[in-house]
Amino acid sequence: MKYETAIIDGKTVAADLRNSLKEEVEKLPAQPGLAVILVGDDPASHVYVGNKVKACEAVGIKSFESRLPAQATQAEVAAEIAAFNDNPQVHGILLQLPVPDHLDSDALVQSIAPSKDVDGLSFINQGKLIAGDKTGLVPCTPQGSLRLIKTVKEDLSGLHAVVIGRSLLFGKPMAQLLLSENCTVTQAHSKTKNLPEICKQADILVAAVGRPLMVKGEWIKPGAIVIDVGINRLESTNGGGKLVGDVDFEAAQGIASAITPVPGGVGPMTIACLLANTIAASQAA
Ligand code: NAP
Repeated sequence: MKYETAIIDGKTVAADLRNSLKEEVEKLPAQPGLAVILVGDDPASHVYVGNKVKACEAVGIKSFESRLPAQATQAEVAAEIAAFNDNPQVHGILLQLPVPDHLDSDALVQSIAPSKDVDGLSFINQGKLIAGDKTGLVPCTPQGSLRLIKTVKEDLSGLHAVVIGRSLLFGKPMAQLLLSENCTVTQAHSKTKNLPEICKQADILVAAVGRPLMVKGEWIKPGAIVIDVGINRLESTNGGGKLVGDVDFEAAQGIASAITPVPGGVGPMTIACLLANTIAASQAA
């Protein structure tokens, strides 16, 4: 059977979410605040931080920016985090990753107060996710991916979900979220044997690897929902470079029932969920 593959439009879903967050902020007694800490001169990170600041302003969240030089010491970055931890106007703190190599990023991330950890990377928030405690802050990209899945299927109970990737930032929390939706979850990674056969059993296939077009059409079960998290730049001779995901999008047409494009799928949801987490953190404060 050939499927008419629906394209899950992350831009529209993210815009709808931002609009509803803006309405929510207008009703709050105090303005939520998000602090973003950027260490060093990585141009991509500067763009990401700029986008986050703009997105905050658009929904009425006050943004606090701290840009530190690439030579900043562990103590200097930790002091910045501590100051934001103590600032009652700041409800969310985000350390833009990656940080320069001489810094211990894990220690810095864990020094963010769990109640302000809008990336959901603290052990407390990761633990709450595993425990099914809804008071925790859930990492933004998996949270956004689940929201996208729910736009095409509300009840995921009993479905087989395969998540390729097991990072703390994405793969592990994604698997937990799907488990709490009563999916049967398989977590695949670089040591997984027979990956194509495992993927082929997935009603929901989530790819978060960072390998361009790795998931082929024949890996996809007919009718599956496919969420492509990977962002890869294909080098071109003119120096440009097209963005592609981990899934062969063209080959998935007619097989998947629904798929997220790259760009324009999961990507836009990440910032929208960061805003949602900041608002949730301000409400819990
Ligand atoms: P990561 O930390 O590098 O993790 C990649 C995962 O893929 C690892 O678990 C690794 O397995 C697995 N893997 C590597 N090669 C594999 C293979 N041949 N077969 C099966 N699994 C393999 O990356 P990440 O932070 O999770 O991000 C993954 C991708 O998502 C990247 O392209 C990133 O740019 C993108 N991303 C996008 C967003 C967004 O907003 N759209 C946000 C976050 C990430 P091992 O654990 O065994 O090494």
